[in-house]
Formats: sequence, C-alpha cells, structure tokens
Amino acid sequence: MGICDICGRKTKTRKVRIEGAVIEACYKCVPGKERDVVEKKRQCKPKQIKEEDVVEQYNKIIKTAREEKGISVEDLAKKLNISLSYLRHIEKRDMIPDKKTAKKLERFLNIKLFEEIIVEEEEDVSDKASEAGFTLGDQAEWE
Ligand SMILES: [Zn+2]
Repeated sequence: MGICDICGRKTKTRKVRIEGAVIEACYKCVPGKERDVVEKKRQCKPKQIKEEDVVEQYNKIIKTAREEKGISVEDLAKKLNISLSYLRHIEKRDMIPDKKTAKKLERFLNIKLFEEIIVEEEEDVSDKASEAGFTLGDQAEWE
C-alpha cells in the first residue's frame, strides 16, 4: 500500500517514471508496467455506482395505494405472501422493506418504491460537510 502521487488515493502503488521523475502511482492513473507516461498524467475519476434506494415516503405510498385498492393490510400481506407484522411495521415506517418485498409491493400496488441514486466511491467527506453547512446557513437566512 502507498499513496498515489497523481490522484492522492491510498491504494496499491508502485514506482513509475513520469517526465523523467520517479513517482509513486496507482494502477488507475498509470495502468500497466512501469513506463514513461508523459501523456497519461491525469486525475483518477471517482468511480460512480448506481444504486437503488427505497424512497423516503415509502410507507405513505404503500398505504395510500393499498387503501385505493380497498384492501386491508391483512389481505395485502396474504396476497403477497409476506408476514403481516412485517407489513404493519413497514406501513408505520418502523422498518424499511427489503428489496424482494418492495418489488412485490411495487408490482401489486402499481407504485414506485425505488429511486436511483448515484454513489461516488471514495467521497471527499470534508467537502460534503462544508456543502451541507452552506445550504443550512442559506436556508436560515430566508426564514
Ligand atoms: Zn492514482
């Protein structure tokens, strides 16, 4: 393990020669074997991962859709073969439905319980924190 001199990641690095200087570089910045990489000097882009996340108001969406269909929690649990107490917990927002259950509910109630979120690997935490602080302060001013 080392620290990449190009992107600053703490990762597996080895010495490479760039523009005559020998530096530590990771395999993302400098793929392959040691060689001169004058042209390839660049920043590692953070890896973006798409993830599905259950929406915030899932319990309300489920409850509303169920009531619109005019069926009880008991019937819904039976129809979808999920535990009644589990479904009750979900509607009360005590529990987040697992993917399988959520998919069943989506299909049966014709609702959307997932949203796609983009997660960046190795986020800069300090950056996010200052962003959040700015937003909060900004809002306070308008109140
Ligand atoms: Zn790197």
